[in-house]
Amino acid sequence: MKIEQLHQLFLSYPTVTTDSRQITPGSLFFALKGPNFDGNQYAADALTKGAAYCIVDDRSLPNNEQFIIVEDVLTALQQLAAFHRQQFQIPVLGITGTNGKTTTKELIVAVLQQKYKVTYTQGNLNNHIGVPLTLLSITEKTEVAVIEMGANHPGEIKLLSQLADPTLGIITNIGKAHLEGFGSFEGVIKTKSELYDHLRKHDRACFINTDNQLLTQQAAGLEQLSYGQQESADLRGEIQDSPYYLTVKALFPKGWLYLKSKLIGAYNTENILAAARIGMYFKIDPLLIQKAIENYAPTNNRSQLMTVGTTKIIMDAYNANPTSMHASLVNFEAISHPNKIVILGDMLELGSQCEVEHQKIADEVETMTLAHKFLVGKAFAQTRTSSKTKKFDNVELLSDYLYQQKLTENSLVLIKGSRGIKLEKALEVLK
Ligand code: ATP
Ligand code: MG
Repeated sequence: MKIEQLHQLFLSYPTVTTDSRQITPGSLFFALKGPNFDGNQYAADALTKGAAYCIVDDRSLPNNEQFIIVEDVLTALQQLAAFHRQQFQIPVLGITGTNGKTTTKELIVAVLQQKYKVTYTQGNLNNHIGVPLTLLSITEKTEVAVIEMGANHPGEIKLLSQLADPTLGIITNIGKAHLEGFGSFEGVIKTKSELYDHLRKHDRACFINTDNQLLTQQAAGLEQLSYGQQESADLRGEIQDSPYYLTVKALFPKGWLYLKSKLIGAYNTENILAAARIGMYFKIDPLLIQKAIENYAPTNNRSQLMTVGTTKIIMDAYNANPTSMHASLVNFEAISHPNKIVILGDMLELGSQCEVEHQKIADEVETMTLAHKFLVGKAFAQTRTSSKTKKFDNVELLSDYLYQQKLTENSLVLIKGSRGIKLEKALEVLK
């Protein structure tokens, strides 16, 4: 089937699903394959549940006029999404980076929604499947699209850029993460910069934090809409206040404005400024930008502040890598509290850098003045530390210890680690 025909079909049946358990009547089911499943096997089931058509690539399936056989289902989904996106002459903002993509995206969307109908990545659906699904949710009503693009292998941002064809782009920052998949930090830099390459090729602009030298180097030759601390930035701003919730002050054409937030962590300054700069570009009144940022509250254990009895908890167990771990520790250090405790979990997917990077963080913790220091996970368990730092192989062992010792009363606790370490389980004990 030609892509134009598939697109016609999509326009008649615009609900797309890749999960046969979530079929709704009249939807299109794309039978994708994963490491442990083959969607083709669920195609018949999808029809029973009311799917209008199934896009399949297993030629041995019994003949059925509701089966549309393509060469490869994933490619068909991606091509359809790219074709659909090209039907709209709207601004499309692509957002990638090592840390803060979702937070920045949510802030940007909150700001843009003050004036526009925005179609955007739901949650963290930022990969080779999520991006196409987001593009397919663009409709005639969409005025701006905001697309989060994630990567853990070289070439991924190039592909996602080809699909989304962003007219504007932003790389939040480039740090150390997924080193296993990227091979090296150079691999990370090159992959994230694929967004800039796309913009450059089409003569388009990027939003950029000009305090970040790595970004400015990579963005050479691109039109730059800037934000940051430097006087030369189009939107200049800096931290006003940070314990606990962050307030940023930013210099708009009519003067300084305080952007209060419900975000924890000085590192969110750049995320807030990015959203404000993008709001300026889209001619949104600074007071509305201010309102949008003030009203946005993070979810899903992303730098959330929680209070449990007499304990205050900075819950940041959504993900972790050496760059965001360091940023969290710097922020935690800056908060004054008489009884501070850190609970850090392993940073996963670091490959050959695992040992070195965990030791660096353990060393950083060593220099901090804290009431208690806990490291959790197999990688942290291998680090060299003084006896002040207690190490646990897993969160269950830590939880038992915390339960017996009851040390967290009247304290401020930072909880940060990769999602796989499940540090949120320790919360249960604190409660
Ligand atoms: P993912 O790769 O999972 O999509 P992401 O890039 O979307 O992650 P967020 O979900 O916004 O990132 O934030 C995850 C965590 O990254 C936060 O809880 C915080 O610890 C850290 N973080 C957020 N923004 C920054 C930043 N600008 N610099 C460093 N660390 C940050
Ligand atoms: Mg994300």
